[in-house]
Amino acid sequence: MDNNLTMDKLVNLCKSRGFVFQGSEIYGGFANTWDFGPVGVELKNNIKKAWWKKFVQEDPSAYGVDAAILMNPRVWEASGHVASFSDPQLDCKSCKYRFRADNLIEEKFKDVDVEKMTTEEMQKFIDEHKIKCPHCGNFNWTPIRQFKLMFETSRGTVEGEKDVVYLRPETCQGEYVNFLNVQRTMRAKVPFAIAQIGKSFRNEITPGNFLFRTVEFEQMELQMFCHPNESMEIYKSYKDRAMKFVEELGLSSENLRFHDHEKLAHYAKAACDIQYNFPIGWQELNGIHHRGNWDLSRHSEFSGKNMEYLDPYTNEKFLPNVIEYSIGADRLTLAVMSEAYEEEKLDNGETRVVMHFKPFLAPFKVAILPLQKNLSEKAKEVYAKLSKEFMCDYDEAGSIGKRYRRQDEIGTPFCVTIDFDTLEDDTVTVRDRDSMEQIRLKIEALTSYIAEKIKF
Ligand SMILES: [Zn+2]
Repeated sequence: MDNNLTMDKLVNLCKSRGFVFQGSEIYGGFANTWDFGPVGVELKNNIKKAWWKKFVQEDPSAYGVDAAILMNPRVWEASGHVASFSDPQLDCKSCKYRFRADNLIEEKFKDVDVEKMTTEEMQKFIDEHKIKCPHCGNFNWTPIRQFKLMFETSRGTVEGEKDVVYLRPETCQGEYVNFLNVQRTMRAKVPFAIAQIGKSFRNEITPGNFLFRTVEFEQMELQMFCHPNESMEIYKSYKDRAMKFVEELGLSSENLRFHDHEKLAHYAKAACDIQYNFPIGWQELNGIHHRGNWDLSRHSEFSGKNMEYLDPYTNEKFLPNVIEYSIGADRLTLAVMSEAYEEEKLDNGETRVVMHFKPFLAPFKVAILPLQKNLSEKAKEVYAKLSKEFMCDYDEAGSIGKRYRRQDEIGTPFCVTIDFDTLEDDTVTVRDRDSMEQIRLKIEALTSYIAEKIKF
C-alpha cells in the first residue's frame, strides 16, 4: 500500500476510472450506498469467484446455495433478530446529530462494560456523568430509543391485509434452514460446509467510510457443521485458511492481523476477526466464529423439525456445532484496492498511478491498443480473438503513453499494441504493467501467454 493513499484519493480514482460511483448520484446521492461501475464490477466478481473457488470448488466437503433474501419472518424470531437486533440511539437537540448511546459511553469511559448495560442504565449513566455531544459540546439529549437495524417491508395480496417481512440482515440463516436439505440431497457427512454469496441489508446510520460500511452489502460466508469434539480444531483451521486466502489475494502480511474476541455472545465458544490496515486504520475485514449448537437448536425449537444428525459410522445422534466464516465482498474489494494503489515515481521524473492487482483479480486482463487509427481493423481482429477468453479493453484514442497510463490506473496487467509490423508478420508488442517492459509475441501465442499469467 502507498503511504500517500487516503480514502479521498481512492474515492476519486474509483469515480473517475469507473470502479465505484455514488449511489443515485444524479439525485444528490443516497447515504451509504454505492454503485459498482464497469471496472469495479469486474474486480468484485473476480474476488467473489476466487473465494468460491477456494472455499467451495476446491473443498470436497463444501456445498453452495443461493437462498431467497426474503425469508419466513419466524426465521428472525428464531435467530433473535426480532427481539434484539437494534442500536440504542439518541439525538442532540441542539445540533440534531444522532449518536449511539453505547459509543458515547465507551469513548469517554474505556473501562465501562456497556454491553452489559440496559437502555435505562445507559440513560442514567449519560445523565449522571453529563456526557456532552461530541459534535457541538452541548448536553441536550433526547431520551434513548432502540433503533431497529432490520429493514422492514410488507407483503400482502389483499388491500389492508399486510404481513411484515424483513430484508435479511445476514445470509447465514439461508444455510441453517437448508441444513437438512443439503445433507439429504448431497448425502453429506458431517463435517461439511454450506456456503453462500449474497446481499444483506442493515439499517445503520453510522458513518460509512466509503465501501467499509454500507446499508446494503454482499457477504461471502460459509457455515461448517461439525461434531462438538472436532469443532475447535476446525475453528482453528478456518482461521488459517481465511488468512491464507487474503494473502493470496495480494494483501500483505504487515497489513493483516488476528484479533481474538474477549467478549463473546452467550452461546459462542470462540470468535476472532482478521483485521486489515485500511486507509482509515485497522478495521475488521472478516470474522470466524464458533457458534456452538445455538443456530440449529433454535431452528429445531421454532420450526418443530428435528435437526439432529445421525452419524452413520457411530450411530451417535447429535446437534452439530457451527463454525462460521464470513467476509464482506465490498469490504474486501476496498482492501484489495487500497493494497494495490501506488503513486510510482518514474525515471523521467513523472509520477504514474498504478493499481498492482494480482493478474487474476484485474478487471481487464488485456487492453488492445492500435498505434494509429488506421490499424484499428487489425486491432479489432485481435480483440475478437482474445475477448473469447478474457475481459479485454479496447482503446484507440490519444497518445500511446496516455493510453498506457489509463490502463495502469485500472490495473490492466497487459497492453497489446498493434503497429505496422503487425500487418507484415502477425506479431504484437506486449507491455507488462508492473515492470513496463515490452516483448514481441506472435498473435497466435497471446492466448496461452496471458492464460498462464492469470492463473489462480
Ligand atoms: Zn450536538
